Order: sequence, then C-alpha cells, then structure tokens
Amino acid sequence: MRHSIRRRSPAKIAEVTKSIPKHSSVGRSGARKTSAQSSGVYAPLNRKSARAGSTSAPHARLFASPQARAIKQEICAVGRKLWLRQLVDGNGGNISYRIGPNEVICTPTMVSKYDLTPADMCMVDLDGNQIAGKRAATSEILLHLEIYKNVPEAKSVVHCHPPHATAYAITAQVPASLLIPEYDIFVGKVVLAPYETPGTVEFAQTVLPHVRQHNVMLLKNHGAVSWADSVTLAEWNCEVLETYCAMLILARQLGAPLSYIPTPKAADLVELRKRKGFPDVNQGAPVPAPPARKKAAPAIPAGLSSADLEKIVERVTREVLQQMGISPPPRAQ
Ligand SMILES: [Zn+2]
Repeated sequence: MRHSIRRRSPAKIAEVTKSIPKHSSVGRSGARKTSAQSSGVYAPLNRKSARAGSTSAPHARLFASPQARAIKQEICAVGRKLWLRQLVDGNGGNISYRIGPNEVICTPTMVSKYDLTPADMCMVDLDGNQIAGKRAATSEILLHLEIYKNVPEAKSVVHCHPPHATAYAITAQVPASLLIPEYDIFVGKVVLAPYETPGTVEFAQTVLPHVRQHNVMLLKNHGAVSWADSVTLAEWNCEVLETYCAMLILARQLGAPLSYIPTPKAADLVELRKRKGFPDVNQGAPVPAPPARKKAAPAIPAGLSSADLEKIVERVTREVLQQMGISPPPRAQ
C-alpha cells in the first residue's frame, strides 16, 4: 500500500511531555519558546499586542468574563486536537470566536496549537485592531474577520493545513461528494478559493464569493477553513473533511471504480443535515463523480489500413504460437 494515515499518539506524547517541568519555557510539543515569543513581541502586519493599559475597561471586562474564559479553554482544547490529528504543524493554523458584535477572541501568532494556554489568547475588533491580550494576534486573522463581516451566523472560524485535504487543494481539485453520508451531512460540497499570499487582505478576500454558500472551503496551495456556530463544530468540519479526503485517496489506490450513494438518496442526507441544525449551506448540487476515463483506442500507424493491421496481428500470433509449440488455428477464410 502506498499510503497510510498516521496520527500522533496521545499516549506517546504524554510519555514524552511528562518529563517537561510545568513552568519550563520548553513547550509541551517540544519547541522552546524564544524570548521574543515569551514577551509576545511578534507583530504581524504591523499589529501589536495590546500593551498594559491599552485595553479599555469594557474590553478588559469582556476578555476576563466567564464566557471568555470558557471560550479560551475550548480554543485550547480544539488547538490540541488539531495538532494531535496532524491538521496543523509548527505554528500553523488559527482559531477564533466572535464573542461580541465587534470583538473576536483568537489564537496568537508563533505558538504551536498543542501548546496554547488561555493566557496566550488575544482579542481583536472587526477591523483587525488588537484590543486585548499580551501576545500578538495571528497574522491570518484577516481571513477570519472577512468571514465574520460577511456571515452573521458565523460564530467561530477554524483554519488549518490538513494534509489530505490540502493534497486536493494543491492539485486544484475538490473531493466528489455522495460517497460517505457523514461527509455530506457535515461538510457537503466544498469549493476551492484561489491562491493569494497568506496574511494579506487579498488572501482574506479570496473566500468572499463562496463564504455565504459554503462553511467549509479549500484554500488553493494552502489548506482549509471552516466556520460554524461553535469552535468545536468548526473543528469537526475540518476533521471530517480531512478524513474524507484521506479515504478517497486510499480508495483510489484500490484500483476499482468508486461506488457512489444513489442520487435519489442524496435528499435524505440534506434532511439529516437540517435535523441536526447545521447552517443551510453547502446544499448545492453534489460534486459530480468525475467522468470514467475511456481507454484510448490504439492508433493505427500511418499508411496501414485496419485490414493490414489484422493480417500483421494474425501473423505475429501464429509465429508466437509456433514458437510455444502450439498448433495455430486454421487461417480464417
Ligand atoms: Zn494557513
């Protein structure tokens, strides 16, 4: 088998990280936090972390509220799941939650999603100004903010770099649907947003043509992004997309054609999605199965008729049979 899904083993990670002292500057994923990281001086796109005293009292209260505390913990748990499932690597990926009409709690830049703690979180407004948090916000927050500004139902955004889904994105393909029910219920039809340089306004705006009709999108040459009404659900969408893409890649290696769910049954999956209360998006026509590849007919060499070719084939066949000691059949009349 050319391919297998590998996962980080939580047991193995626990064994390795148990030896790291609780207050060590070495992250639990093994990466040593630099002095720059520890002091939170990374400032992507000229945004700076909120310095002491620069956070207004209402923002400070919101950032320390019980709701914010719960969201920060959920973001940390989801970040760890993303890292354990290898949907992010290094400091990749980012997570956010819209906690107020103009306030978004998000992950910082340059921290592994495995190492996140509630104290690492940041808060920005919808214009991208950092309004709370000691660390600088993720450089890809603009992508999240464009989604929040254009989709009122979006409460959380998760962006990650899942390897199998990104394999589709770097080959400019989207996975066909109607192969596994869970995929059509949770994710459905995904689209591919065009490539732009990460962290830029142009990158953030690549999703705009699709973002109201799709809550899971592939980003060309980059990764995937999902929005939902909770952090956990946005992460589930990414997990389901990644596992589905991995299964499709595996299935294609088996050499048999893919067997699709019959089209009349597709309506049942739409109904199940509605019953679960998922946003009414991704319900366009399913991504059709790619057309079966026809075997090209062998080309007849120039100057030969098909009758000439038949004679050559017959002669070669007779010669081979004679060499094998088998009597060739009588010539056709
Ligand atoms: Zn990214």
